[in-house]
Amino acid sequence: MTLSVAAILAESALRRPEHPAVVWGTRKITYRELWDGARRYAAALRARGIGPDDKVALLLPNTPHFPLAYFGVLALGAIAVPVHALLRADEIAYVLKDSGAAALICAAPLLAEGGKAAEAAGTPVLTVMEEGEEEGVAGAPRLDALAARSTPIDRQVPRDSGDIALVLYTSGTTGRPKGALLTHLNVVMNVGTTMLSPFDFTADDILLGCLPLFHTFGQICGMNTCFRAGATMVLMPRFDGPGALDLMVREDCTVFMGVPTMYTALLDAARADPRRPPLDRAFSGGAALPVAVLDAFRETFGCPVLEGYGLTETSPVVAYNQKAWPLRPGTVGRPIWGVEVEIARAEVEDRIELVPAGETGEIVVRGHNVMAGYLNRPEATAEAVVDGWFRSGDLGVKDNEGYLSVVDRKKDVVLRGGYNVYPREVEDVLARHPAIAQAAVVGLPHPVHGEEVCAVVRAHPGNAPGPALGAEIVAWSRDRMAPYKYPRRVEFVDAFPLGPSGKVLKRELVARLSAADPDNPPGD
Ligand code: ATP
Repeated sequence: MTLSVAAILAESALRRPEHPAVVWGTRKITYRELWDGARRYAAALRARGIGPDDKVALLLPNTPHFPLAYFGVLALGAIAVPVHALLRADEIAYVLKDSGAAALICAAPLLAEGGKAAEAAGTPVLTVMEEGEEEGVAGAPRLDALAARSTPIDRQVPRDSGDIALVLYTSGTTGRPKGALLTHLNVVMNVGTTMLSPFDFTADDILLGCLPLFHTFGQICGMNTCFRAGATMVLMPRFDGPGALDLMVREDCTVFMGVPTMYTALLDAARADPRRPPLDRAFSGGAALPVAVLDAFRETFGCPVLEGYGLTETSPVVAYNQKAWPLRPGTVGRPIWGVEVEIARAEVEDRIELVPAGETGEIVVRGHNVMAGYLNRPEATAEAVVDGWFRSGDLGVKDNEGYLSVVDRKKDVVLRGGYNVYPREVEDVLARHPAIAQAAVVGLPHPVHGEEVCAVVRAHPGNAPGPALGAEIVAWSRDRMAPYKYPRRVEFVDAFPLGPSGKVLKRELVARLSAADPDNPPGD
């Protein structure tokens, strides 16, 4: 069976050639222009020797070059390897070598790191530039200029549904990043399924494209679903709350998709800016969204917020709250169409032993969304995919009606004095404190309890962070949580360290806090 991710753009270009696919500043790029441009990129890449099954790395921020290069690569039957745009040269070189990329397409402003990496890996570089940008490294051939002079390829190269379309690298929280191999079927099924529900995309929707396109959430759920529907994506190069609110108002955005930190930033922005965009619905994923934040967003922006759950390895969506069923804030809804989600005994590693509803265990996933494996890592693949089930590394629980709740990542659970503390549960309670804008809970080493629960807090403006507020938060928490759970230590930050997709980097918080006070562990 032939099937290609490139058809997502090709078909919409046939159906709605003059409709804007991408809004970029004052420019509107129609579907015809975007598909024509992608086929020119394909022609220019072909002229440089790239063909089916070659891997092409993309080091591109959120500009129109991303979809042009991505669909150009896919139209050729080649494999796109989007690289996190914030990586350093060594990390990029690792991805280039591990993937065996035949070329790197790199935005001019990222050439300082990308160029060094390509040199180290021996990978040819092609650059692309936006108007007004400086040429980063003299001599790197300009793919956009080559494409402009090329005749578009006629049609996309047919692929088999099981062929690899994408290699998406995990962020490497647990060791070196691993390249998840996603097939054309994985991606097309996830996009086609989620477009109908939960996302309910129509051709008239306008999405704020603020999630990074190199990450699975922004790329597959955002860009691809939007293009599959023939809708419009308003590209935002770098997220910030006031800027996102302004852009959504100016461009009449109807759909917002973001990670929880973006929700809190938008709520902050809405305190200072009374304008509201005509949002019809908002989707959260990537990390736990505290119910208090969900409620505040719904009230402030007047639209439902649907939370879901997914991973890079599951293309990505696994489960979502969907309009067809009653919304259950605090859960991630039910599995998407055609995908099985169960809970397995976490401590049984060599086989899958399912547990009944109501019991907590590891979330396991089986279906059309599970990756083909990790590139070059048969052992990691065998550990992750057992009897066709993908082991997520997340703890969860299903209720009798099939709603899934993500309890926490297995590796983030804090073990305090023999008790398991799930940071997500503590964060949910802290989000209700009136002075707290955002909280992240981590475990820090403790000589008596093994680990101590620490809340890292960003306070709302007007609340002076310091020992007095810290003590007040500890006392407030003590009244609302069991003795082993409530945070005994509160640390304040102005901003959280964020990963490439905008999620809070807990491992960095732990490293900072452990380094700050190595000999004097907190808590009683
Ligand atoms: P790494 O690649 O280093 O493992 P990552 O875990 O952030 O980084 P992603 O594939 O981007 O990789 O994210 C998947 C993870 O995000 C899930 O395993 C889960 O821990 C978390 N996650 C996603 N959605 C939710 C949600 N709604 N609630 C809680 N956690 C979530």
